[in-house]
Amino acid sequence: MAWDRVRGHDAPLKSLRAAFEAGRLGQAYLFAGPDGVGKRLFAKELAKALLCDRPPGPLTACDSCPACAQVEAGTHPDVFAVRTPPGKHDLPIEDVREFCARMAMKPTRGGRKVGVVETADDFNASSANAFLKTLEEPPPGSLLVLLAADADRQLPTILSRCQVVRFAPLGPADVRSVLADNGVEADRLDRLVRLADGSPARALALNDDAVWTVRQKLVDGVTAARPNFAALARAWQEFTDGAGKDTAAQRVRVSLVVGFLVEAVRQALRLSVGADVPGLDAGEAARLRAFADRLGPDRLADLLDRLAEADAHVDRRAQLVLIVESVLEQFTKPAGLAPAAG
Ligand SMILES: [Zn+2]
Repeated sequence: MAWDRVRGHDAPLKSLRAAFEAGRLGQAYLFAGPDGVGKRLFAKELAKALLCDRPPGPLTACDSCPACAQVEAGTHPDVFAVRTPPGKHDLPIEDVREFCARMAMKPTRGGRKVGVVETADDFNASSANAFLKTLEEPPPGSLLVLLAADADRQLPTILSRCQVVRFAPLGPADVRSVLADNGVEADRLDRLVRLADGSPARALALNDDAVWTVRQKLVDGVTAARPNFAALARAWQEFTDGAGKDTAAQRVRVSLVVGFLVEAVRQALRLSVGADVPGLDAGEAARLRAFADRLGPDRLADLLDRLAEADAHVDRRAQLVLIVESVLEQFTKPAGLAPAAG
């Protein structure tokens, strides 16, 4: 069954199914949770379950009728999506108006329509305003689903008209099964699950040799005795740009590098107290130990705090170039300037 592909979100499914069975399915839901945990896939399966020609159970798709096939292929005439265009940081008002106009039309195939706002974090004042009328008076038979990283950052006018459904990061077992479903090789699974942070999308982005090349370059670079800020910034930026113009994919890449740096600093801390770090070759271990000796435990701990802050800024849609620069500054500033150094 289609829902089998959705891992780790049994609670949201249970509550939506209960509402559906009671005839109380809402007309607007805000799916709130971190990037890459499966909110979009969930919305797709929900649309499929609602539009299926031969549902085998309540809020369950057959996954074989023409309607299911169309939802799966993204060609169903009664399912729409709007998202931030590549290279943009806001949901443009024109795109939102078009989305609302399509939502207002009668369903083509059946009695329902499903509209998904994939980047609800990116509403600006005018596009949010354009969206409000549709949200306040949803067309009969329509369901709106907004996907967002954090419910608390939504405009009150939007938030107050949606039922919030929370999506948590996935547990390691669920991440592992998503990765296995996607054909990730067994010898990479452990490490990818560890670096995934509960986000299968993040782990899948890591399943790429180019990522490991850039990891080596950046980790070696920031832990070198005299880090070259300009070269590191360039390498990191090229990697980010390599995701294409899709800002969500760029965010994933920036966050991946932050994750690598966190991993390296943690390893350095472990080595500095004489603990073992499995999987490091001798050269890498020596480099990290020297790095730990140069900075000292306080500054390493401070770096971890700064990296956590940087990751939070990636989530909050701060400008990526500024995040990259501020992280690299932490690594490249002379030790004497660090508040906790010495
Ligand atoms: Zn079906």
